[in-house]
Amino acid sequence: MNIPFSPPDITQLEIDAVSDTLRSGWITTGPKTKRFEQEISARCGTPRSVCLSSATAAMELTLRLLEIGPGDEVITSAYTYTASASVICHVGARPVLVDTAPGSYHLDPDAVSRAVTSRTKAILPVDIAGIPCDYEQFIGIAQRRKGLFKAASPQQKALGRAAVIADAAHSFGSLRGGVPSGALADFSCFSFHAVKNLTTGEGGAVTWRAREEWDDAELYRQFQLLSLHGQSRDALAKNAPGAWEYDILLPGYKCNMTDVAASIGLAQLERYPSILARRRQLIERYDRAFANLDVELLPHFTDAYTSNGHLYPVRLTGRDEAARNRVIESLARDGVAANVHYKPLPLLTAYRKLGYDAASFPNALALYKNEVTLPLFSAMTDDQQDYVIDRFCIALRG
Ligand SMILES: *Cc1c(COP(=O)(O)O)cnc(C)c1O
Repeated sequence: MNIPFSPPDITQLEIDAVSDTLRSGWITTGPKTKRFEQEISARCGTPRSVCLSSATAAMELTLRLLEIGPGDEVITSAYTYTASASVICHVGARPVLVDTAPGSYHLDPDAVSRAVTSRTKAILPVDIAGIPCDYEQFIGIAQRRKGLFKAASPQQKALGRAAVIADAAHSFGSLRGGVPSGALADFSCFSFHAVKNLTTGEGGAVTWRAREEWDDAELYRQFQLLSLHGQSRDALAKNAPGAWEYDILLPGYKCNMTDVAASIGLAQLERYPSILARRRQLIERYDRAFANLDVELLPHFTDAYTSNGHLYPVRLTGRDEAARNRVIESLARDGVAANVHYKPLPLLTAYRKLGYDAASFPNALALYKNEVTLPLFSAMTDDQQDYVIDRFCIALRG
């Protein structure tokens, strides 16, 4: 058997939705994108959402909207994908990498608290594997340290403390304390990239939780301007007869979502409850199969939170990096694609060059060394999963 890691779950519904959009005469940002935005807000319980070309764009535009830039610091996890930190570099601020909590995939709140300085403008935790971070804790830290905070823009002033921005690339559809991912942090950035739970091929969205100080229509407009050249009228509005004229209000960026992508997203959204249910089933099957192995599993469903089951990470108790790699190689020989989430950023050339030293992140390093992520996708059959289970058990014994 050949088991891919995370192929997209595309059905006739998505194919028909795309055909419909292609035939409609409007293929870039338009009515489908607007509807997708409204559906995202409805599911997250947030005032507005903005669809963009990626989670990376969503995080970068959020930093730009807050006017975070040179001289500022943004705290994020050493244990994440590069996008969480690269966006901080893009705006000219300094990423302050912080270790994970011992034995946890999430940022260590105590270490975050210690890392806050008078330059800290945002904290950017990462919802690894679909499990939403405890954002109340991070907002609490920002609140307690607001004496250090120096607001340098109207949005920063409205917040009155460091912003808490969720890298929610993994967590669309997850809940903590019954609250959906999207409504937990000040801003949350989702990814609809091809490997994510809900995909538009490439795509992302930013949403924010309701606050008295926010003018939601104005935030929405700011994101629109930033994502589409700073143009006062979007392409659809400009398309009306006679409505040719526009102004450029700022030299903006270009990272809007197309209606072709949004139509895939709308179809995926319709199927999302069954996608989530299947992922849960598969995770519970893995959990049962591995209950007696010498491995550490990540709980996806607890009283505190319900994960969307994005990834299935396993820690190989007592194994070192070489032994972990042998397990991945053994799986590969059997046609099973496994991954590691993540190689900590300080081990990557770009971040080493920025001066980060892996030795300062002992928890992330220990996590990385014996972690392996097994294939998990909603279209996975029981037979495919049984094969992975069988091969994994053999690889562990090997
Ligand atoms: C996928 C991913 C991103 C980037 O998402 P894009 O939509 O591809 O920009 C960011 N952070 C994490 C943790 C991811 O896994």
